[in-house]
Amino acid sequence: KREELPASVHGINPELVDDRAIDVVRTLKNAGFEAYIVGGAVRDLLLGLRPKDFDVATNASPEEVKRLFRRAFIIGKRFRIVHVVYGRGREHEVIEVSTFRAFLDNSQAEQVSGNERTSKQQLMGMQHAVDASGRVLRDNVWGPQDQDATRRDFTINAMYYDPQSQVLVDFHKGIQDAHKRVLRMIGDPEQRYREDPVRIIRAVRFGAKLAHLGFKLEAKTAKPLVACEPLLHDVPQSRLFDEMLKLLLTGHATASIEQLQKLGLAKGIYPLLDVVVERAATPLVQAVLQDTDRRVAEGKTCVPSFLLACVLWQDVQAGWQQRLNNGAHSFPALQDAIDEVFERRIGDVSGRGKLAADMREIWAMQPRFDKRTGATPFSLVAQGRFRAGFDFLRLRADVGDADEALANWWQLFQYADEAQREDLIAQAR
Ligand code: ATP
Ligand code: MG
Repeated sequence: KREELPASVHGINPELVDDRAIDVVRTLKNAGFEAYIVGGAVRDLLLGLRPKDFDVATNASPEEVKRLFRRAFIIGKRFRIVHVVYGRGREHEVIEVSTFRAFLDNSQAEQVSGNERTSKQQLMGMQHAVDASGRVLRDNVWGPQDQDATRRDFTINAMYYDPQSQVLVDFHKGIQDAHKRVLRMIGDPEQRYREDPVRIIRAVRFGAKLAHLGFKLEAKTAKPLVACEPLLHDVPQSRLFDEMLKLLLTGHATASIEQLQKLGLAKGIYPLLDVVVERAATPLVQAVLQDTDRRVAEGKTCVPSFLLACVLWQDVQAGWQQRLNNGAHSFPALQDAIDEVFERRIGDVSGRGKLAADMREIWAMQPRFDKRTGATPFSLVAQGRFRAGFDFLRLRADVGDADEALANWWQLFQYADEAQREDLIAQAR
């Protein structure tokens, strides 16, 4: 049942709504289409949080959306959406616009992709996106709004908000669940995890993200999680890696570890995540998880390389030491250990090259902090990656893995002027 709730009921503060999102909705509606803010943004608005990004859902096709905006790009092969871009450079903002999609369970989806002719009759008038081989792409079967709601994951993620009329549209009692502080999967949870096992990780993520507001997973939603966990073996490594990063880098890393343990998912989601959970209570990893959460809360960004460099540092140290014991020279021994750790722990993930370069620089810089003579400190601070390497030293010193005085020295050196720097070098001798 479609429920329409006025502002007096849902109480969303219109000031939290982004102007660009309002513009997108207005433009689409003026052109005769339906359009709403949707998904996570509506959830956050309802909870009084300022959404970090806004998605819009509409009954216009991607091509129709694109035509209405000056800078709009159709993105994605499988799941075609439109990015409407506002502003330029670092300040630019993207509103993601997706067309209402049909809800297909697995058997329907098979039919759609297996036999387009019958499916066309079955789906009566819905538009299909067809790839080169003529297969209908499952996620691109357009449908009515109520089906678009049903295919989403949690009830609180499946609401629509019209910023002009301030009406909230709710098909699955999302607003009740928001008030009751429950995360409830739409439909039969086990079936939904089978359809897309990544929803298992999303359950952990939203459980963690909303834990401080008192949210809990509904019992029926939580129950099949453990039994369904092996389904994640069929999910591409790169998607699991990205989901892992969302658990760890979006401001609730510590809460995510707690959720994983509480839900019985501490092991088996993804090998590298297993390592993070295993080491979550070790001083350096605990420190970086807390530090990451604090930084995100302060509006700063966090990069995967720094966090993963902390998580895997003990492996690098062990490999380095082992090679030194076998008589290797220090620098090549470290390089070698770094290569081995990266190969062993980081799979075939997107952005792998940059990640490897960044982690390597952080690690390789550590022994260089010991050399505080001549021109060496000057060239080290001038390096692009100095900051990350220093932050790593700082964190190590904080937990007793590096010399406090050394970290303090570099703290002073980097902000000192030329004369002060010469003094610091003289003192270090
Ligand atoms: P965040 O604030 O972390 O971005 P979000 O709810 O916006 O949370 P997104 O991953 O940005 O999460 O997805 C946007 C919306 O798309 C979700 O709110 C949900 O309605 C839907 N969605 C995303 N991924 C899935 C999925 N795997 N299965 C079902 N629905 C999904
Ligand atoms: Mg989102």
